[in-house]
Order: sequence, then C-alpha cells, then structure tokens
Amino acid sequence: MKKTILAMQSLLPAQMNELEAHFRVIRLWKERDPEATIQEERERIEGILSTYNATRVSESLIEALPNLGIIAQFGVGVNNIDVAAAAKRGVAVTYTPDVLTNDTADIAVSLVLALARRIVEGDMYVRVGKWQGGPLPLGTTLSGKTAGILGLGRIGQAIAKRLSAFEMEVVYHGRREKPEQPYQYYADLEEMARASDFLVVACSGGEETKNLVNYKVLEAMGPKGYLVNIARGSVVDEEDLLIVLRNKGIAGAGLDVFANEPHVPEALLTMDNVVLLPHIGSATVETRTRMGQLVVRNLLAYFNGEELLTPYRE
Ligand code: NAP
Repeated sequence: MKKTILAMQSLLPAQMNELEAHFRVIRLWKERDPEATIQEERERIEGILSTYNATRVSESLIEALPNLGIIAQFGVGVNNIDVAAAAKRGVAVTYTPDVLTNDTADIAVSLVLALARRIVEGDMYVRVGKWQGGPLPLGTTLSGKTAGILGLGRIGQAIAKRLSAFEMEVVYHGRREKPEQPYQYYADLEEMARASDFLVVACSGGEETKNLVNYKVLEAMGPKGYLVNIARGSVVDEEDLLIVLRNKGIAGAGLDVFANEPHVPEALLTMDNVVLLPHIGSATVETRTRMGQLVVRNLLAYFNGEELLTPYRE
C-alpha cells in the first residue's frame, strides 16, 4: 500500500506526477476544511511536503501525527518548520540547498543593478513618456563600491563572486569569521553597514536573525547606502526600514522578501526609491524542477530506508 504524504503546496506537474506514482498525496491546499482532513488522516500521514509560504509545520501539527517520519522541505530556509519539535520526536527534516543558490544570487545582483542604474525607474520613464521632457536622473557606479554581505553562506558566497566580477569590494558579516574566504570580515554588523555602499542580506531567517537589520544598522549605511534583501523579510525591521526610506536616511532598497508575504506595506508601494519583487529568488523552471526532484528523491530515500540526500541539520 502507498504511504501517505501530506503536501502543503504543489510541485511542478512532472514532479507531482512522480510523487503520486510512489505515494498517496493529500493536497492540503485544495481541501475545503484542512483541519478536519488532518484529523481524519492523522494516523495515515507518514510524510509532509512543506514550503515556506504554506501551512506551518508547527509543534502541534507534528504532535498530532503519530506516524510522521519525515518533513521534506521545498526550499532552503526552514523557518516555517519547528525543527526542534521534529528533532524531539525523531522526525527527519530534509531541504533543498545548493540547487537554488545561483538563481537566488542572480536576483540579489539584479536588485543591486536595478537600484544603482535605476533600471525599473528607467523603464517607467520611457513608458510614460517622460524621456521627451529630459533625461533620467543619474545613477551610481558599481565598480569600486563596497558590498557588505550579511551571511556569507552558500548564497552569500555566490553573490560575493558575482559582485566581485563587477569590480566591487566585498566584505561580510556573520556569526564567525571564515578565514578561507578572500573577503574582509566584520564582527560588527553596524560597522560593516557604515563601510558599505550596498548592504546585501543573505543570512538565514528565524528567531536568531529577527530584525537584525534595524534602525541603527540602516542609519549607519547613510543617505547614499542601498539595502538589498533576498533572505527573509524577518531579518529586516520593516517599520524601521519604512522610517529610514521615508526620511531618505538611505538611498533605496531592493526587496525580494517581506515580513508578511504576500502582503507588502502600503507605504512601500508609493516610494520611488525601492524595487519590489514577489519572492522570486528560486523561481525559474530549471531550479524549481531541481528542487522538486530533490524533494521526491529525499522522500523515496527515507521510505526505502536509504541515506537521505540532503538532511537538514542545525
Ligand atoms: P546557508 O548556506 O546556511 O547560509 C546562511 C548564512 O546565514 C550563513 O553564512 C550564516 O553565517 C548566516 N547566519 C546565520 N545566523 C546568523 C546570525 N545570527 N547572524 C549573522 N549571520 C547569520 O544558507 P543559504 O543556502 O545561503 O540560504 C540563505 C537564506 O536565503 C535561506 O535561509 C533562505 O531563507 C534565503 N533564501 C531566499 C530565497 C528567495 O527566494 N529570496 C531563495 C533561497 C534562499 P555564519 O554561520 O557565519 O553566521
């Protein structure tokens, strides 16, 4: 008999078909009463397919499923999962690192370029016929400028590599120095912000990094500084960011992630010094396919008693 997987969100059709070839899949987002479905199916559910923007995998959900053995996350950030509760119950957690690194780094670089060279503003300028009235205000040169990366992990390093190719000076902040990296380390985030023309947020989300980029850090960047966030909305204090943007305390911000997605603060929508994206770091056909394949392969490995491909470990 097929094992039952509780899916919080769909994979692409090909991976969904593969999943359904091996498992009985409950599509929770299609259920009229998801709570009731979970109650009805609680004994049968042995695996969860989760993702950052769907139903949270909370301690109470984990506790409600006595035969749960694996949570397979579609994504690299696992802050939607209570990983401590999973570990306590001996439930395995897998995720999809590496396969999304390059695409997400590309989006960070796109935001840096869009801000510095006024790409989005320029597009609007042409479309609404402002060009006839004169040229677009000047942008900012990237080469020779300093990019401070908060979180020099897989994605942070891919961003560093790309920005180095633009002849930018790369520096970074994290919990500890990485001596093998060729970039200057700042133990203090505020100090790094002060030294940076662009602050690029690429660290993990969750409680530990909540509001790490606050008023003091933003203010330290100064009126010529730009913020880019491709990590999680929770890392930047959104209230503080709005104040600093409104006061022109920084030059602008490029955001792929927000505190309460898909809701974006009304005030941001009317600002011309921001570029806003709908969380598209990994959103390409190729990467979403690889992520889905990894999810399916992790689930198959678990139920075949094989080694997990990409287990999440804190
Ligand atoms: P990773 O390799 O685990 O890197 C995470 C980095 O965060 C590490 O370098 C770590 O540095 C740093 N960090 C963790 N806690 C910190 C703290 N308290 N203070 C400062 N730095 C801290 O993960 P990754 O694969 O690069 O992914 C990074 C994040 O990007 C994910 O967690 C996810 O939320 C986000 N993401 C977003 C998108 C998107 O679509 N926008 C797509 C993929 C991923 P140290 O260990 O040196 O502290």
